[in-house]
Amino acid sequence: MLSSQAKPSFASGGAFLDDTRREVAEYLAENGVDAAGRRRLYAKGIVASVLMVGSWTVLMFASPGSVYLGVVSYLGLLLGTMLVAFCVMHDANHGAYFRSRRLNHLLGWTADVALGISSYAWRVKHNVAHHTYTNVDGYDADITQVPFARFIPVQPRRPWYRFQHVYIWPLYCLMVFRWQTAGDIAALRRGSIGQSALRMPRGWDLAGLLAGKAIFVTWAIVVPLLVFPWWLAVAGYVVFAMTLGLVTATTFQLAHCVEEATFAAPSDLVAQRRVWAVHEVETTVDFCPHNRVLTWALGGLNYQIEHHLFPRVPHTHYPRIAEIVARNCSLHGIRHTSQPTLRAALRSHHRHLRTLGLGGHRVEIEMG
Ligand SMILES: [Zn+2]
Repeated sequence: MLSSQAKPSFASGGAFLDDTRREVAEYLAENGVDAAGRRRLYAKGIVASVLMVGSWTVLMFASPGSVYLGVVSYLGLLLGTMLVAFCVMHDANHGAYFRSRRLNHLLGWTADVALGISSYAWRVKHNVAHHTYTNVDGYDADITQVPFARFIPVQPRRPWYRFQHVYIWPLYCLMVFRWQTAGDIAALRRGSIGQSALRMPRGWDLAGLLAGKAIFVTWAIVVPLLVFPWWLAVAGYVVFAMTLGLVTATTFQLAHCVEEATFAAPSDLVAQRRVWAVHEVETTVDFCPHNRVLTWALGGLNYQIEHHLFPRVPHTHYPRIAEIVARNCSLHGIRHTSQPTLRAALRSHHRHLRTLGLGGHRVEIEMG
């Protein structure tokens, strides 16, 4: 149900965003920069699609009888699917892939076909609920997982949260599986995600949702059941969905659910109207900015601050945009956090979960 309370809102624009947007526009307008970024994006899309489809074809039709070929093609399928998720589906559903909205939606349909989750529901869950109300309790569905976990200090305490830093990892593994099954359907029946309205799809949206589910179930479950022993087909699907869930959830959590990020209750935003761009920077953290392999594979999602400010710009531009954003943050007195390593980001997420699980109070030791 949607809340009857006043909906929190943000002040748009502001000097920080104006200055940053102007500099980013100048950078993209430099000779050939925009086109080069798009070419890199399309090349990644081709690599991801060929790896995924090619690996699946080998796995289904050439690997039975060869354990080695089976393992290699299964790993290729897993990697290809993750690349499609991070480097194709996410950009396309944000409208960053093409200039045409229709083409972006068509490519965004890879969420349905390749991942088994509804792109129609994703655009509300991710583009609206998460990107507009980042780290706002009850509005950002990614960070509102009560009664399973306490991610935000204003969320109520429960005794079992003291173990959340341990049991959260298997829960992350179930995230994609949940969205492939009950998550989409429950959200559509409820008519909302967080506090954002989700209307029942009709026409092409409904056809896309049903056809997408059918195609996904066919390639991920039905064909493997026909080719392999049932237990192997089921195990293959379970490991596939759990790995995808773990990597996806961890990537998003390292950017938002860490000690350095800020959080808000809806009442905070009603009492004090914040500037949206500043809220996005302070609720988000970059990590591993110099790790080229991770930046390539995660579709630039280790540059989440830049992604939140410029979701419609191809992610291949984020490393350069991050320099512009960081400089403008320091000019305007806004905290811009970038974790130097994956280890530092994981530790911060772990400490945040543990602190909130134990009641939200940091332990301070008097030294002397
Ligand atoms: Zn996004």
